[in-house]
Amino acid sequence: MAYICQLSETHSIYLENLGEQTVITTTNSSPGQQQQSSSSFTTGNWTKPPQVFPASGGVAIAISGSRGDCTIQVRGNSIAVTSDRVSVANAQQLHVQQVANVPTSTMPPMEPMKPMEPMKMGDMSMGGNPMEMRMGNMEMRMGSPAGSSHFCSQCGAAVKSDDRFCSSCGHRLG
Ligand SMILES: [Zn+2]
Repeated sequence: MAYICQLSETHSIYLENLGEQTVITTTNSSPGQQQQSSSSFTTGNWTKPPQVFPASGGVAIAISGSRGDCTIQVRGNSIAVTSDRVSVANAQQLHVQQVANVPTSTMPPMEPMKPMEPMKMGDMSMGGNPMEMRMGNMEMRMGSPAGSSHFCSQCGAAVKSDDRFCSSCGHRLG
């Protein structure tokens, strides 16, 4: 159950009873942008539709709920429960219209995050596990698990880490 009270062409107040909560959403739209703020108050279940009256600097909303009557004052963007009773007798009630639902957000839905692209810079790429670099006799190895290939320091042939002699040139390893 939701109601809208159109205060002006650009300013409207939505009222919704969610469980024991009264949710008040004010929307202020101007060309190119829309402001929206909402507050909720525990009022109990409404026993009749809310009534909206003009009040100093804004409007007062009279809620009759299962927890009793209360008045919520809306001034610009500030929304607060007030103990002031609206003098309903003199005040002219604003038109409140029932609506199907309250707009929850003016933001477009977020697109899901795209998975990270693999790292690439120009034509350089990094990869391979274990990572090995070789320059002349010098060898660098990162994250090399035991038993992976080594190279003979004499001839450069691939040898196993537990080989004692190079299978290619017979150089003593280790
Ligand atoms: Zn060798």
